[in-house]
Amino acid sequence: MKKQFAIIGLGRFGSSVCKELHRMNHDVLAIDKDKHKVNELKNHATHTMVADGTDETVMSKAGIRNFDHVIVAIGEDIQASILCTLILKDFDIKQVWVKAQNDHHHKVLEKIGADKVFHPESDMGERIAEFLTSEKVIDY
Ligand code: ATP
Repeated sequence: MKKQFAIIGLGRFGSSVCKELHRMNHDVLAIDKDKHKVNELKNHATHTMVADGTDETVMSKAGIRNFDHVIVAIGEDIQASILCTLILKDFDIKQVWVKAQNDHHHKVLEKIGADKVFHPESDMGERIAEFLTSEKVIDY
């Protein structure tokens, strides 16, 4: 079934999620405050928009309330990530998934209602370690 996703922050992580969802034929709105990042994703998203995810008025006008699932992939600017998440939860968006920068950031995101918080680098590291030590890997 086709689903609607919005992604805010198109760094390496956000853009790869965007490309994959689009490849899977879902509707994807890709947002970044940097117009170059947005341009790079023009052919890999249903809609693109240059906007600041911390601007409540702009997010409202973008129709972000209509999305059931929003991914916040703003990285280094922890303050912007927190504010953006707050705005999205105030809009009553059902699933707000957020990339965290560190454990403190993670705790704050959980407190303000993020539905899933993840750390792509360490999550992937754990999965690789599990895979390497699983029986599926043939030991040469
Ligand atoms: P990655 O590892 O995924 O490349 P990162 O952790 O290095 O990302 P950044 O590059 O700091 O994170 O941010 C990811 C993206 O989020 C950038 O393209 C940046 O322009 C965008 N971004 C940062 N703040 C905002 C904001 N307030 N609104 C929209 N986009 C933003």
